Amino acid sequence: MDDADQQSGDASDSENSIRARLPFPAEFLDRLSEIISDSHDLQQVYRSFVEPKCVSFRVNTLVTDVTTVCNSLADQGLTLTPIPWCEAAFQVPFSQRSLLLQTSEFDHGHIYVQTASSFLPVLALNALPGETVLDLAAAPGGKTIHLAQCMRNEGVLSAVEPVRNRFFKLMANLKRHGVQIAKTYQTDGRTVGRKTPERFDKILLDAPCSSESRFRADDADSYAYWSERKIREQSRKQKGLIRSAFQSLRPGGTLVYCTCSFAPEENEAVLADLLKHHGDQIQVQDFTCPAPHVLPGLTHWRGRDWPAEIQYAKRVLPSHELDSFFLCKLVKL
Ligand code: SAM
Repeated sequence: MDDADQQSGDASDSENSIRARLPFPAEFLDRLSEIISDSHDLQQVYRSFVEPKCVSFRVNTLVTDVTTVCNSLADQGLTLTPIPWCEAAFQVPFSQRSLLLQTSEFDHGHIYVQTASSFLPVLALNALPGETVLDLAAAPGGKTIHLAQCMRNEGVLSAVEPVRNRFFKLMANLKRHGVQIAKTYQTDGRTVGRKTPERFDKILLDAPCSSESRFRADDADSYAYWSERKIREQSRKQKGLIRSAFQSLRPGGTLVYCTCSFAPEENEAVLADLLKHHGDQIQVQDFTCPAPHVLPGLTHWRGRDWPAEIQYAKRVLPSHELDSFFLCKLVKL
């Protein structure tokens, strides 16, 4: 056996031993190993289900400033590390999570605690002051607040959420965080395209999904309802939502689609479906994603082939600070 064989043997031994300790359905784990072919990447994903992550937050620059907040949090014993690729974003060690959540800064909406992966789609969309922007699946509102920060509370920011209690949570969060430009709608996002065709400069569709990247080995509830049938149901809904978003986008406008699922049916297949219907009006854009480890979108999965430009989608792999994430940027021609 040569060195390369020995190393790949070691990698697959350690892959199998981490896998054996994960309590998830075998079907889910089998799918993961089909989606992520490199053994080291796969181990990284396995470890992310078990290891604690840093806790990230953004300073809410709509109501305060970075220096005031950082000084106050440091005085309260928090160890802040800036997240270099996102303005006003920081992380603290996992062990300081409850201390962070007990601060008056958290209580008063001067910070918003959120996985750092959630910053990526908002940065990709690049909403600007004065634009007309839609957040089509908005509750509890973390990304809506971030969009309002990017827009410096200037312009129009519509936020849609159909689920009643989540809609109220969204409204309360927007108020607590000083968002003044939001118009909130309790409605199914799939109806929005028909009601407001070609209205928006930029649209974020942070789609409801099977949340596979949020599964935790020590939290049985996080994966209790997983099934391939549920993935197919989500995929159907996501295809309806992305078509509606696309209809609402003005020509020249930008749409960012994202999920926190690994399932190709909820990611690349949703894009492929939109391209099938509107391919001549869409450019799938390549863009820089500041995450440390990113894979391209898949162009084949279980016997299906998808258009080559879907490789410009980003599959963010988990790290100490990031959860896995899928995102893609489309422009309407
Ligand atoms: N963007 C949010 C944030 O950063 O706080 C998280 C959004 S979460 C991934 C997806 C949201 O879509 C959920 O609040 C869910 O209730 C909502 N949703 C479910 N079905 C929907 C539909 N048909 N139209 C619009 N939103 C929907």
